[in-house]
Amino acid sequence: MQFTALHYVVAFIVIFSTIVFIVLFGRLPAFKGTIVGKARTLLWHWIPAKLVAIDKTITGGRISDATRSCGNYLINDKHWGVAIFYVTILTVALIFFFKDAWRHIMNPIHRLLIPPLAFQPYFYLYLSAFTDPGTITPSNVSRMLEIFPYDDIIFYPDMPPCRTCHTPKPARSKHCSVCKHCIARMDHHCAWINNCVGYYNYRFFLAFIVSNLIVLAYGSYLTFSVLYKEYMRQYFPEGYDSAPKYYWADYIKWMKLIHSQNWTATVSSLFMISTLVLPLVIAFLAQHLLFIHQGVTTNESEKWGEVEWAIKNGMLYIYEDGQFNAENDMTETATGSGSGSESEYGVARSRPGILTNGKGKLGKSGRRVHIHVYGDGEMNRSVPHGMVQTEKVPDLDSICNIYDKGGIFQNWEEVLFPKYT
Ligand SMILES: [Zn+2]
Ligand SMILES: [Zn+2]
Repeated sequence: MQFTALHYVVAFIVIFSTIVFIVLFGRLPAFKGTIVGKARTLLWHWIPAKLVAIDKTITGGRISDATRSCGNYLINDKHWGVAIFYVTILTVALIFFFKDAWRHIMNPIHRLLIPPLAFQPYFYLYLSAFTDPGTITPSNVSRMLEIFPYDDIIFYPDMPPCRTCHTPKPARSKHCSVCKHCIARMDHHCAWINNCVGYYNYRFFLAFIVSNLIVLAYGSYLTFSVLYKEYMRQYFPEGYDSAPKYYWADYIKWMKLIHSQNWTATVSSLFMISTLVLPLVIAFLAQHLLFIHQGVTTNESEKWGEVEWAIKNGMLYIYEDGQFNAENDMTETATGSGSGSESEYGVARSRPGILTNGKGKLGKSGRRVHIHVYGDGEMNRSVPHGMVQTEKVPDLDSICNIYDKGGIFQNWEEVLFPKYT
């Protein structure tokens, strides 16, 4: 059998989607210790480390330094570069589509659907980029503290106020070093939209991903149908005389068809690009759907990963309340930190007494898991004041995630209908 360019394209699509799947999903707890998790370590840590080492011996590390500063600029600086790149690619692809594929699409339903669907990514990009993701300000911080209670596991009330914003840090919030603000229900900073994805724009961000998925899936389908019609016109003008059989020779016919005219070459390119990017967008959307189902944000999924790591290493303990007194503890924290800035906003910083999501997990009846996990992965394992260490946390399942409301609709409600202050 003879390998044609199309075989390489198909092979490339399969390998590319596999890599994307491994990189995106390999980190999830479900894949820890499995081949997917190991493959991710290889792809994400081992191979880059080797490449850096090779670069160090050959160029003295110049290539890796340049790559790093370029990557840092793209990821860590606030600029429209990535968004402009995205808009350019999409616009150029659409121009070619309307120039070369549109006139071959006769079906009036498609002709009616295509323009609004093609416009949607621009619309949701605009909404995601220009909606305030939930910037925490002195005027809304009390309300945010009300909406997002501390769970004492990955977010706890002893967290010092943000050093840059000088506001208390509500649970689920995070300071974004790119936007230079604390963001409520921070998911992640997204370079594609040049904005944080947070409490108020997460729904638009999801719509942006979905609109891209539609454009890519629908685009793949339309470009393929147009090519297929032309294929039939050129090779089987009378239609198949019997049920179609596929032979390797047919692929050569396809390759000839692609190169036969300018417009077939353009439409084939559009088809290949859209099918190549489609798995990536599907994987990304699937990841976010899973996060919503689990009641976590991207930021929190990393924290839970650290908690799980600590459990596996036998480093997490259950503390009994003992003579623990919330008021005493608060006074000590306030005088201990010496700032007292929390009180400026009149924020009640009492600990939630009982943590439960109704599943009977740890946190019930005065027992609590007390874990300090910092953003940089460093853990504070000191025994909290007034608490008595009793036993090790056996597994992740015995800790409740109070942000997981349980039902399908409850978690979506928070995403689709954020509360305004
Ligand atoms: Zn901040
Ligand atoms: Zn940001």
